[in-house]
Amino acid sequence: MDERVLTGDRVTGKLHLGHYVGSLKNRVELQNNYDIFIELADVQALTTHFDKPEMLKKNVRNITMDYLASGIDPEKSTIFVQSLIPEIAELTVYYSMFVTVSALRHNPTTKSEAEAHGYKDLYYGFLGYPVSQAADITFCKAKLIPVGDDQLPHIEQTRRIVRRFNQLYHPVLIEPEALISEVPRLVGLDGNNKMSKSLGNAIQLDTTEQDVNEKIKNAKTDPARVHKNDLGHPEVCPIYAYHRIFRSEGADEICESCKKGTIGCMECKKKIALSINHLLEPMRQRRADYLKKPEIVDEILIAGTQRARKVAKETMREVREAMNLDYF
Ligand code: ATP
Ligand code: MG
Repeated sequence: MDERVLTGDRVTGKLHLGHYVGSLKNRVELQNNYDIFIELADVQALTTHFDKPEMLKKNVRNITMDYLASGIDPEKSTIFVQSLIPEIAELTVYYSMFVTVSALRHNPTTKSEAEAHGYKDLYYGFLGYPVSQAADITFCKAKLIPVGDDQLPHIEQTRRIVRRFNQLYHPVLIEPEALISEVPRLVGLDGNNKMSKSLGNAIQLDTTEQDVNEKIKNAKTDPARVHKNDLGHPEVCPIYAYHRIFRSEGADEICESCKKGTIGCMECKKKIALSINHLLEPMRQRRADYLKKPEIVDEILIAGTQRARKVAKETMREVREAMNLDYF
């Protein structure tokens, strides 16, 4: 059987270009050679959005549509809902017996996310979400995890959990590896943070052509450039980062002209808006096709979740046996 890959997204909002270059693009390629599981992480979404459960149903379906639009093929990939696999919650409890609070507190990603959310006192579920993520990865014995660089500390935590479990009980679990994309961190339109669902600095994959133009027009650029002739610093400009990543024609010349102050930000922005629209156009087409039969989204989710559950039950049986919890 093909090696298994697990990836997923918190169902906190629609997917954006950061997801595409950071993870989705890889998934679309991997689905041809791997058995890929894609998790709609609703439980993990609740770690920061427990007071907004009304967003879950809408986001689960929107994100599934984003997957389909970006080229995920439900015949090749298994798309499932995290909370419908209770074995994940069960594994989380068992793993949490041997993960220390200080290990979780030192996780740099959790730390910076806590800061971004303004948390002073950390919620138990939030602090522990890397343990839950270890359960996501191990229930299906995934070997490869395509992620952005913010996820590396979590993958490392999973590897430690796997080694500890296998040593304490019985070698049942598989130690996963992160697969970092060419673009581990796409900067947001604000030029400061990574493009993120929660920060309002994103271009979502379902953005219309007109809205892409508008968002790019309002994006931050090199703050030192006030007039067209001011000398630019492309290395600090998010628009230039996009030129590189979305491979606009003439990105090198744009860089030189910016440094010399011979191209204005407006012209530069028009060029990148064109490239981004070019990338999004086939996704708009696919989305429109799927929207003609919207019931297909639920059908895909039900079938994917059933398949994932079967795998989870099998792993759980082995885990219970390894831990002496197989009483009868
Ligand atoms: P939230 O703000 O709710 O956490 P998010 O935009 O960070 O949302 P996640 O669902 O947490 O999205 O991330 C899903 C996957 O996409 C992860 O592998 C993550 O590393 C990757 N990813 C998210 N944003 C970016 C980005 N700007 N650049 C590259 N990869 C990204
Ligand atoms: Mg995130």
